[in-house]
Amino acid sequence: MNVYDGERMAELMTAQGMTAAADADSADLVVLNTCHIREKATEKVYSDIGRLRKGARLKDRAAPMIAVAGCVAQAEGEEIVHRAKVDVVVGPQAYHNLPDLVREAAARGSALDTDMPAIAKFGALPARRKTGPSAFLTVQEGCDKFCTYCVVPYTRGAEVSRPFAAIVDEAKALVDAGAREITLLGQNVNAWDDEAGTGLHGLIAALDRIKGLARIRYTTSHPNDMREGLIRAHAEVEKLMPFLHLPVQAGNDRVLKAMNRSHDRDSYLRLLDRVRAARPDIALSGDFIVGFPGETDAEFEDTLSLVDAVGYAQCFSFKYSPRPGTPAADMAGQVPADVMDERLQRLQSALNRDQAAFNAATLGRTCSVLIERQGKLPGQMLGKSPWLQSVHLMTDARIGDLVEVEIVRADPNSLAGVERVKAAA
Ligand code: SAH
Ligand code: SF4
Repeated sequence: MNVYDGERMAELMTAQGMTAAADADSADLVVLNTCHIREKATEKVYSDIGRLRKGARLKDRAAPMIAVAGCVAQAEGEEIVHRAKVDVVVGPQAYHNLPDLVREAAARGSALDTDMPAIAKFGALPARRKTGPSAFLTVQEGCDKFCTYCVVPYTRGAEVSRPFAAIVDEAKALVDAGAREITLLGQNVNAWDDEAGTGLHGLIAALDRIKGLARIRYTTSHPNDMREGLIRAHAEVEKLMPFLHLPVQAGNDRVLKAMNRSHDRDSYLRLLDRVRAARPDIALSGDFIVGFPGETDAEFEDTLSLVDAVGYAQCFSFKYSPRPGTPAADMAGQVPADVMDERLQRLQSALNRDQAAFNAATLGRTCSVLIERQGKLPGQMLGKSPWLQSVHLMTDARIGDLVEVEIVRADPNSLAGVERVKAAA
């Protein structure tokens, strides 16, 4: 979602007559779009600010204006102006005001906007004119689920769905600008809905009708919002890619309850059975947190056994990071760092094993690949399989082409393919 927000901010500033600098060291204005989800991501912004100023000093040029955007801006507000003397602080729901804030900071020294008007920003942003073959489109923001470890409900605000028509218009503009694949984004994207009760599957059906759009994806979904219509869409909508990112976080019911996840191990596994029944080849993905407060060795073993039971195609896994203001940060039984390290290592080796196995299972298959960019070797192009694996191949196909490819080598992190016939455009 931050990639999407960054693109929209760049478009906004371009519409003001600014041009993108070649790198941060030659820019007059640097916008740092930040993430607050874990402590490490938050700390990064302060080291980046230091590095930018040092870069300017070494080059003997004036330091650039610095705007801090995103969820760190939302969470820390004024604090950033004091701690790092930045020019602009703008929250994730207010970045449509970035041009005004930059003007205000130039005139008065600093400017801040962390208001959260639901949805207002999208209407204030310029139309989409530039995109690569694979585009992001935010359809839903915020979260009302309040998992006890998570800052999202505080930084991104309440769960809001963008209107159906605005999304379809943006999707068409992206396709006109060259997108062949659109990934619908939301903190809980499968909670997307409108007054007519269209549901995400209804939105996907509308996108399915856009000529020129070849692939549809969506992320991130919550197990509790996975409705029958969306599961059916995986069986019925050809453009909907066989990939589902459905974070479970942990495999033990006591931990899940303490996390306030509202699904349990068994309901999650049964849900995946239904998804697999609809689309047997679906690639499953998830997020995990190890070392949630109070997690015992035996409870962690339940996470490993859940991984064994599912056989994920790829996953993200994190050490629990206490976030200020969340209930879990004050819970008893904070897990020592070395225990978390060990658990993360064991979990990741299980996930890597399963990812390698998933990739190996595609060996010999022929599938479509959407060409996204050039590879390192002359004539080599890189793209994605329907199951979101990176594929490299030698081809004269161009960026944005869909090609039929036979997978001839499977590595843990990527596949090598040989072009068969060019798929119909
Ligand atoms: N809405 C999505 C996830 C959004 S946050 C969902 O509920 O599944 C992305 C991921 O960051 C989460 O799935 C979780 O695994 C991780 N995460 C969130 N808060 C965290 C924390 N305090 N420490 C470590 N990981 C965290
Ligand atoms: Fe955070 Fe996702 Fe839970 Fe919402 S559902 S609080 S975004 S982890």
